[in-house]
Amino acid sequence: MSIVRTVRGDISPGDLGPCDAHEHLFLETPAQPGDDFTDAGKAIEEARTLWAAGARSLVDWTPLGLGRSLEGLRAVSEATGLHVVGATGLHRDAHYAAGDPFREEPVERLAERFAGDLAAAIPAGVIKVGASYHVVKPFEQKAFEAAAEAHRRTRAPVCVHSEHGTMGLVLVELLTGLGVAAGSIVLGHLDRNPDPGEHAETAAAGAWLQLDGPGRAKYHPDSTILALIAALVERGFADRLLVGGDTGRRSMFRAYGGGPGLDYVFARFKPRLERELGQELSEEIFVTNPARAFAFEPRA
Ligand SMILES: [Zn+2]
Repeated sequence: MSIVRTVRGDISPGDLGPCDAHEHLFLETPAQPGDDFTDAGKAIEEARTLWAAGARSLVDWTPLGLGRSLEGLRAVSEATGLHVVGATGLHRDAHYAAGDPFREEPVERLAERFAGDLAAAIPAGVIKVGASYHVVKPFEQKAFEAAAEAHRRTRAPVCVHSEHGTMGLVLVELLTGLGVAAGSIVLGHLDRNPDPGEHAETAAAGAWLQLDGPGRAKYHPDSTILALIAALVERGFADRLLVGGDTGRRSMFRAYGGGPGLDYVFARFKPRLERELGQELSEEIFVTNPARAFAFEPRA
């Protein structure tokens, strides 16, 4: 039977509800000094705004070694009622210091660690990996191999950080070559490279396309993301699209004095998508698709 694995246990995919497909409630990384956020009270405060804006679930993409807290995610879920899916796995190379112990860990040990997290008392529900800009570095290749092994053991979805939306199809081919079903692959940040033709080819391979840049006007206005969505829908890939907010910096949280806040994707972007592209598409992107993308049939 297909389930979504949340930090409070397995739920039926149909119970996931409106889903923010990419968030971070806790994060600290040497790649973003001074922009860490680790306060559970502030995470709860922000998560309440997301609930008030209509979300009923979120997927937290913070992986191992970067302040990930499955206990913290569970506390947020218990305080707010949001279904929260946590991650195991590793981010791209740049997020780990030179002496980080994960750099020395062999593939098999990492795979055991990832699979163990997916079966823990407070379990992760997705496996994260990351690639660099137009290149998969050796540390990242190791993580991809370990993630694939953990996926083969558990069937959990593999969530991929693409740097600036590059190499989508290359990363899908890498993972499928390692035995991961394309339908279990979620590619994040593709809207940083708003090229509908390229992403349509990746969608045709069966992977999930995730757009998570709403509110980042310094890269693109939201209109660029809406145009990308419209172009992918026109090419027949409405059933491959996911949208998240990806609040990955302290300065993006109102609870820390920043903005636009965890609720931006639901409070601002989703209503605009409904006005410009229709309610039916919104339902597909925020409810129907996440219930498929983040579901899996766990192996006994
Ligand atoms: Zn992220």
